[in-house]
Amino acid sequence: MVSVVLPAYNEADNIELAVSEISKTLSGTGEEYELVFISDGSSDGTYEKIQAASAADPHVKGAEFSRNFGKEAAIFAGLSLASGDAVIVMDCDLQHPVSVLPEMIEKWKAGAEVVEGIKNSRGREGIFHKLSAGLFYGIMSRLIKIDMSSSSDFKLLDRKAVDALLELPESNTFFRALTFWIGFRSEKVFYDVEERRNGSSKWTTKGLIKYAISNATSFSTLPLKLITTMGWIFIIFAVVLGIQTLFRYFGGTSADGFTTVILLLLIIGGFMMLSLGIAGHYIARIYEEVKGRPRFIIRDTTESLTGNLKGQWK
Ligand code: UDP
Ligand code: MG
Repeated sequence: MVSVVLPAYNEADNIELAVSEISKTLSGTGEEYELVFISDGSSDGTYEKIQAASAADPHVKGAEFSRNFGKEAAIFAGLSLASGDAVIVMDCDLQHPVSVLPEMIEKWKAGAEVVEGIKNSRGREGIFHKLSAGLFYGIMSRLIKIDMSSSSDFKLLDRKAVDALLELPESNTFFRALTFWIGFRSEKVFYDVEERRNGSSKWTTKGLIKYAISNATSFSTLPLKLITTMGWIFIIFAVVLGIQTLFRYFGGTSADGFTTVILLLLIIGGFMMLSLGIAGHYIARIYEEVKGRPRFIIRDTTESLTGNLKGQWK
């Protein structure tokens, strides 16, 4: 059986459309399937739509969070609740084209354990969004040594890969990169991002920046190592400058450089605080992990899903 996991935050207008389009495509492949919608604390009646769809069609299942926990949480809740031999994760605004699902399933049947959806084009988006996404993926790709620039959350995972993901103990997850990290035999399918069918994107610039920082630091300790590098550069600089200053002092030609002193103080002060901030950020992450709070809280599920949670989320 193939499960399709669909995170949905205020997508009431897209549920019926998603159900009909995905069902049509999947029944065409002859596979058994289920659709698992995770309503991420929606306030526009998304969950009611899911319940209605579920009552009309037993393939449709769904759960509702107690509040908005974010897309990552919704994806992992879906992975945990899905019971298929393969699980496909896709957006329920249908920006991930339904038409590539058969190709994904074929690649899985041919032996791929992870099928990555790779964007041919990023679709229509603002220039600022494009630039910041480019910067983010540039840095991320360098940090985790995987080219992520055109990867997305649109993926098919074999049961083995799903279980491996669900066993990861951390609560700060970054799905897009974790599927590379767990390894397995991976294949790609290419797709064009489609226009959003209804409603608008849920991302704000501030939200994206927070998401970028949290993902970069949850995946790499490189920023911490950069602080050490910066420290070494300053120490070498200090030794050279120190020797030169002493020479001048004893030679009686020492410069009265008040400006230099102020500049040095400000520069070093700035770097110190920045370093403290970076270290502090990691401490905050440790604090969050140590608290061990659940990543999401489920308020209600459709009857067909009760008691299905797997992995570290059970
Ligand atoms: N989403 C979610 N929780 C959130 C924000 C978004 O589950 O807090 C879902 C949303 O319903 C959609 C998918 O994540 O199915 C992608 O969101 P969106 O279309 O807003 O992002 P974009 O496609 O613009 O990157
Ligand atoms: Mg979208």
